[in-house]
Amino acid sequence: MRKLAVDVAIIGAGSAGLSARRSALREGASVVLIDAGPLGTTCARVGCMPSKLLIAAADAAHTVREAALFGLETSLEVDGPAVLQRVQRERDRFVGFVLETIEEIKAAGELVSGRARFVDPHTLRVDDHTEVSAKSIVVATGSAPFVPPPFRGLADRLLTNDGVFELERLPESVIVVGAGVIGLELGQALNRLGTRVTVVDLADIVGPLQDPRCKRSALEALSDELEIFLGYQLHSVEGDAESVTLRFSDADGTSHERRAQLLLCAAGRRPQLSGLELERANIGYEGGPPPPVDPLTMQLGQSHIFLAGDVTGEAPLLHEASDEGHIAGRNAALHPEVLAGKRRCPLSIVFTEPQIAIVGKRFNQMSCDDHRVGEVDYGNQGRARVMNQNRGLVRIYGEVGSDLLVGAEMVGPRVENTAHLLSWAIQKRLTVGEALEMPFYHPVVEEGIRTALRQLQTNLRVARSPSSECEEFGPGT
Ligand SMILES: Cc1cc2nc3c(=O)[nH]c(=O)nc-3n(C[C@H](O)[C@H](O)[C@H](O)COP(=O)(O)OP(=O)(O)OC[C@H]3O[C@@H](n4cnc5c(N)ncnc54)[C@H](O)[C@@H]3O)c2cc1C
Repeated sequence: MRKLAVDVAIIGAGSAGLSARRSALREGASVVLIDAGPLGTTCARVGCMPSKLLIAAADAAHTVREAALFGLETSLEVDGPAVLQRVQRERDRFVGFVLETIEEIKAAGELVSGRARFVDPHTLRVDDHTEVSAKSIVVATGSAPFVPPPFRGLADRLLTNDGVFELERLPESVIVVGAGVIGLELGQALNRLGTRVTVVDLADIVGPLQDPRCKRSALEALSDELEIFLGYQLHSVEGDAESVTLRFSDADGTSHERRAQLLLCAAGRRPQLSGLELERANIGYEGGPPPPVDPLTMQLGQSHIFLAGDVTGEAPLLHEASDEGHIAGRNAALHPEVLAGKRRCPLSIVFTEPQIAIVGKRFNQMSCDDHRVGEVDYGNQGRARVMNQNRGLVRIYGEVGSDLLVGAEMVGPRVENTAHLLSWAIQKRLTVGEALEMPFYHPVVEEGIRTALRQLQTNLRVARSPSSECEEFGPGT
């Protein structure tokens, strides 16, 4: 058995682990990176990048289909294998860049290939070939798709995001289980590329949205293209060599049956802790969900163990994984000293059309006494109408007294850009008045948020009328 002793051992060469490595090295620590493979990061291999590549093709198809509305004569033929080949080619290119970095790490003797598990608080065993002892350990093992028990027996009729980008042909039909971010993005993309898609979800969710009015707006827009059943009850699922049959009732109790070539399970992702034997790390962990970490230091209690990325179970997003890796890596190197890292304004985007985004504080964190809302409906917004993308709703939240912008939920055209503007404004602690002093070009979709900001400014001056205003924020605090 090979034995290594380092200052910092990092488990997981994903986005969080790679970022942790850079930060630990910057602090002068000796580092080893352990990964079980496949290498290349979830983001580049099976996540952010291939999904956006598929969506780009789907949106192009949709644009052609909509062309007649602008008076353009076109015809469309989707060459499924060619679509998937481009997705795979470009995906491989992105993965290639990561692999180049990993090759350098390997050449420096800082990579150990294999599955790590704790032997004791400071010792990791990698498969059965290497033992690593480390002063501090960063756990950056990511997350894996969760497949609920009823679907586990579907064998090759079952897909997750790990397999969908490996397909050689676009399926004729797919049942997507899960109306979260991944289910909606992939479901709409496949549907736009000609696959017949049905999306089902046990819960009444639309991506990450919490604001009921934004949820309604998003559901209306997406349901125009996609068959979506929220609050469904599963009766049975059966698979054979060619198809999957799902029997279920919808939220009203009406029974349905859908048969499809494949079932794409997008029922959430779970932190990858199993097999790690974290119980042996002497931190009071006895299995189950990840133990809570301090989001400013990524430290587990007062221990020498730090968590970063999807494994925390907190915000499974690429930029959060990188930031957390940076904080965890630096603190692992500095331990027992730990420094609070900087966290950014929360920002998440769903690349459906219309797009969905959430910025800053969420709807459920608002209270009737302390917050007000201003909104704009994109139905009549000038530029949105010009582009025939006039759907959606932006709701911006402000704080009574300080007049600060605190959050927003939105669905609408190009809200990826609107969400960025608002997140910068929130992080810079702009008041609603200060945001309104900023330039707004004409005609752009961002003009819409000026309307919402003006309404918010007015509402912030109004004392709450007990019933109507409070409905904006549900039961309140
Ligand atoms: C379909 C999809 C689309 C997405 N789209 C977006 C998007 O548009 N924008 C966005 O911000 N985020 C998106 N995400 C989320 C983003 O990809 C993740 O948040 C991010 O990649 C997580 O990085 P990580 O470092 O935590 O995990 P990973 O990149 O998964 O790295 C974990 C590593 O740990 C290794 N490992 C696990 N256990 C062990 C062990 N015991 N021993 C050794 N090695 C181990 C694994 O092999 C892996 O290499 C998407 C995710 C998916 C699935």
